[in-house]
Amino acid sequence: MCTTRRFTLAALALGIASFNAAAATPNDSAPLGKLPRWAQPLAYQLDLRVDPQQSDYSGSATIDIDLKQAADHLWLHGQDLNVSKVTLTDKRKKTYAAQYKVAAQKEGVAAIEFGQTLPAGRYSVTLEYSAPFNQQLEGVYKVSSQGAPYVITQMEAISARYAFPGFDEPAFKTPFTLSLTVPENQVAVANTRQVGEQKLDKGWHKLSFAPTRPLPTYLVAFAVGPWDVVNGPEIPATKWRPQATPLRGIAPHGEGERIKPALAQTPAIITALEDYFGFGYPFDKVDLLAAPDFAAGAMENPGLVTFRDYLMLLDANSPAHNVRGSFNVTAHELAHQWFGDTVTMPWWDDLWLNEAFATWMQSKITRQLHPEYRADLELISGASYAMQSDSLVSVRRIRQPITGNGDIETAFDGITYQKGAAVLNMFERYLGAETFRQGVRAYIKQHQFSSATADDLVAALAKASGKDQRFAKAMQSFLDQSGVPLVDTSLSWEDGKAVLHLKQQRYLPLGSTGEAKRLWGIPVCVRYGVADGAAKTQCELLDQEQGKMVLQGASASSWYMPNADAAGYYRFNMARDDLARLTASLGQLPDTEQLAYADAVNAGFDSGALDAAAVLAAAPRLAQSNTREVATALIPTLKWLSRHEARNPAQQARLVELARQMYLPRLQQLGYQRRANESQDDALLRASLANFLALDMKLPEVRQALLAQGKQALQPNADGQLKLAAANPDLLRSVLAVSTQDSGDSAIDVLIKALGSTSEPAQRMAILTGLGSATAAGSAERARNLALDPRVKVGEISTLLYASREDGEGRDAMWTWFTANHAQLIKRSGDSSGGKLPGLVAGDSCSQREADRLTTFFQPLLKQLPGAERGLAQTREKALLCTALRDKQDPEAILH
Ligand SMILES: [Zn+2]
Repeated sequence: MCTTRRFTLAALALGIASFNAAAATPNDSAPLGKLPRWAQPLAYQLDLRVDPQQSDYSGSATIDIDLKQAADHLWLHGQDLNVSKVTLTDKRKKTYAAQYKVAAQKEGVAAIEFGQTLPAGRYSVTLEYSAPFNQQLEGVYKVSSQGAPYVITQMEAISARYAFPGFDEPAFKTPFTLSLTVPENQVAVANTRQVGEQKLDKGWHKLSFAPTRPLPTYLVAFAVGPWDVVNGPEIPATKWRPQATPLRGIAPHGEGERIKPALAQTPAIITALEDYFGFGYPFDKVDLLAAPDFAAGAMENPGLVTFRDYLMLLDANSPAHNVRGSFNVTAHELAHQWFGDTVTMPWWDDLWLNEAFATWMQSKITRQLHPEYRADLELISGASYAMQSDSLVSVRRIRQPITGNGDIETAFDGITYQKGAAVLNMFERYLGAETFRQGVRAYIKQHQFSSATADDLVAALAKASGKDQRFAKAMQSFLDQSGVPLVDTSLSWEDGKAVLHLKQQRYLPLGSTGEAKRLWGIPVCVRYGVADGAAKTQCELLDQEQGKMVLQGASASSWYMPNADAAGYYRFNMARDDLARLTASLGQLPDTEQLAYADAVNAGFDSGALDAAAVLAAAPRLAQSNTREVATALIPTLKWLSRHEARNPAQQARLVELARQMYLPRLQQLGYQRRANESQDDALLRASLANFLALDMKLPEVRQALLAQGKQALQPNADGQLKLAAANPDLLRSVLAVSTQDSGDSAIDVLIKALGSTSEPAQRMAILTGLGSATAAGSAERARNLALDPRVKVGEISTLLYASREDGEGRDAMWTWFTANHAQLIKRSGDSSGGKLPGLVAGDSCSQREADRLTTFFQPLLKQLPGAERGLAQTREKALLCTALRDKQDPEAILH
């Protein structure tokens, strides 16, 4: 508002001055956040000439614009674009020579200067430009697979500005009409169906694509290369969609066959989503593309969903983890076709409307189509994971105000995804699933092909449920403030009734500087035992500091679970006797609630309420469970104890012995090879137990078994390729990690060589994990240097480095390496990865010394790296909390 008013006056003044001046200079300041609303795009036409063999591409972008007031310029985005010519045309086809000027290089803000003041009205501006293919997986970027170059796009969050000049802000949704001129031997795909092909001379052709539905810039996508295009099963018409929809897989050359399993599962996902939304899939086709190098896991571009290749290229030898991930991620990205693509958030503070919803919806669809995947438990484990970060003082809120581009880059975190999904799950339960669905359907229908905010969603849910302001305030209390509620509970017998007393505050780990006093509107649901071994559930909205519930039918000695079905996003702290009764009933609780119990143990340990002895008493009870997620729920805390608390051989030996008793018989029963017709869950359990016992607990017998597989896998075939398929694919990462640790340089040599000749994505990830896990100083250094080597793809750097910083010595060596090589590392991976950098190189720090050196090093870089400020604050805070916990805990408790 202020900017606009200043602009108007300036424009008038410049209008007069421009009798003499050829080009007026805008003197309202360049908008570094949202663009002003007085110039709005109506439609784009992109005509691009793309040859993956080159290092640049070129073309033109024509944008129809509604200028809402007289102006001599407009603001838009463009980054690293070489604009050679700008032509502005008015309604009467009169043209004006305009100029493109970079206004803020780092943020990618530019101005188009008209050379004179023009009246309000409709215009069209054409920019002719060229740009380099991006090297950091942003915008229009180039990768190679088996020696052949490919061009792919990734626009979210704010990288469309590298690809074409435009209004790179999600509020502006317009149709895009794209044409791609490419060499005839290249395949090109885009958001919509191809509607035309024109042969040109010298072996080129021009492909035209249908105009899109209104889209924000971040959803525009295309790809060019020698792709295999595989037709999948058609998605049959449904009552929500009268026409069948074509489905295709787009894979690197020669890999087409392996994308078929992913295609086969897609029609059922689409139709299940349509049934939920009561709204047909709205785009004209579905293409799933396997990208040979990619920054995220996948991207929901309407009609052309792009994935990391390991999620799309599957066969009988793929790790179970990837097979399951393929389904889950496909369900997530397809849910976005409604949440995000059909209804879009206007600004990045509401990114959760995309990501929390897609995460929550993915869980719902997976429970429906693959109940054995236990997506209900994954949602709860995801919430526990989010609660770890949400306990930090430096954490974001779900709806964090955006103060700069760094806040956009760092919005894609566990708070937006997993906390957001858990909060939706909690309020769905509170309103009832059917009522919640009616609200969601109304929201999609009302805002289709347009934008909507959190307030719009809350209003739609309130209307569907008939709930008042109290509900809206409760939901907003989770969206607009950070932190995990901690509900203290105690049961007492009063006037012949069982009364549960409740008190809320913020959960804070030991050593936190945070303030505990904080108020949420928490839908608390309690399950409790009544006569004859039966149980009842009762719910209340706790929106005061204290409350109470009368548990009808309970006795003074009833057990109760303070978070029924673990559906609430809160932690609990029970009175001692109450906890003892719950613990005694643990085996009767459903898996969901056993996970809530495990979270309470982990949280109690982190806050200092429980000591190591209490954790080690609870661990075997949970480890007995037949359910993988429950049986392994305390493994992270056991790892922590082993890494940070066990100070002498006796303490370490006790932990190792306990781990052996709890898990080795189970692993031996599963064996180290896949068995015919075993469940996917058995394969996953085998992989996590083998990894924990071999790499964290270093059990010699498990290491030997993996090492034996490693010996076979690292044998070269006659053609010089390794026999990686000789190892169990579910164990390959652990097998190669043990091999580099025990065989040192000889294993490192063959794995480095294999990096240059292996394109199979799951095998590549295992090779990188193996290399990163090397512990001998020289081997580890050689492995880290690969992060700067073109044989490791940009999207693979983090896999390599994450594996390389586990113990104290490893962390110091990693730090020394990083501080010497940070400039090259940042150059390779790009500034926008800066938010993740402190966690990547120092994430497991656990001392004041490490926290301080981290701060000293990153402080001067914060201006350069958007998002690094938050990354630094969180990594530092975690290091200090770890230090406080280690100093407070008595390691002797391990022996009790
Ligand atoms: Zn997503």
